[in-house]
Amino acid sequence: MMRPSLAMMYAMQLDCPGKPLGLTARPIPEPKPDELLIEVAACGVCRTDLHVVDGEIPAHYPIIPGHEIVGRIIKVGSNVEGFALGDRVGVPWLGHSCGICPYCRSGRENLCDQPEFTGCTRDGGYATHVVADVHYCFPIPSTFSDIAAAPLLCAGLIGWRALRLAGDVHRIGLYGFGAAAHIITQVANWQERAVYAFTKQGDAAGQAFARSLGCAWAGASDEMPPVPLEAAILFAPVGTLVPAALRAVAKGGRVVCAGIHMSDIPAFPYADLWGERMICSVANLTREDGTSFFEIAERAKIETTTQPFRLTDANDALAALRDGKVTGAAVIVPSL
Ligand SMILES: [Zn+2]
Ligand SMILES: [Zn+2]
Repeated sequence: MMRPSLAMMYAMQLDCPGKPLGLTARPIPEPKPDELLIEVAACGVCRTDLHVVDGEIPAHYPIIPGHEIVGRIIKVGSNVEGFALGDRVGVPWLGHSCGICPYCRSGRENLCDQPEFTGCTRDGGYATHVVADVHYCFPIPSTFSDIAAAPLLCAGLIGWRALRLAGDVHRIGLYGFGAAAHIITQVANWQERAVYAFTKQGDAAGQAFARSLGCAWAGASDEMPPVPLEAAILFAPVGTLVPAALRAVAKGGRVVCAGIHMSDIPAFPYADLWGERMICSVANLTREDGTSFFEIAERAKIETTTQPFRLTDANDALAALRDGKVTGAAVIVPSL
């Protein structure tokens, strides 16, 4: 990837759903008063990016995807306090919330009525540069390299929110063993919980990866775990897994759907829900999720498995994720 000239930035842009991303050059934007201009060091590739590319969730086109951004501040807006040039920051999915709606006023900014989402309704990190609202950026612990930190910004953070929603239970199933599961397994193990990993049928490599990270058991998503689970988190966007997970959890068990989009959930017998089993979804994140997660990630010494891609290879990164060919997390690195 060529280095941008002083005044220009490069990005992989989506003009409309269903099209490949295209390389585009544009003037580097000026940060607004509450914004940071950030030189992107790494940007994780999330399944949500596929939903944006496929038009499965509402986005503002043209859009630069990417919401797991790690970079360094090269310019600050006139109102910015507490951040300095050269500081390393992370930019997550929640790019802005209104602060005045009933959700924002009750500590649930993840459900804001007027939100902005990075890489979806405001430009994201498949780029050499990005501007971000300073109030939604996180400092990144120095123990993580740029590339290692990128998947923490969504896979880690949303996984952490899902894990908290799963409740204070011991035996947890994870359906879909990608970027989020490989991080949350380490957090759950550090908390001395037992993790049961479910992958696609026949994915021996994925199951071996799960066991290598300390999962108590790994098998196919149509198998029953060796013991009833107390909760399950669905990272795979596959509706048929909802009744499967309900059957795998014991009475009182919770099934947490962590994806932003999922195929339809088929009908299932009420008996599978009976016994105070619950199904819920996880939407977005709060800033508190971010600060609490980065503290845990540092203490638990999370190690991310990453596969770097050049910025101009963003379409290949998305294809690899779509085809289940990424072990851990794909990360776009503009300096490559
Ligand atoms: Zn709001
Ligand atoms: Zn994401």
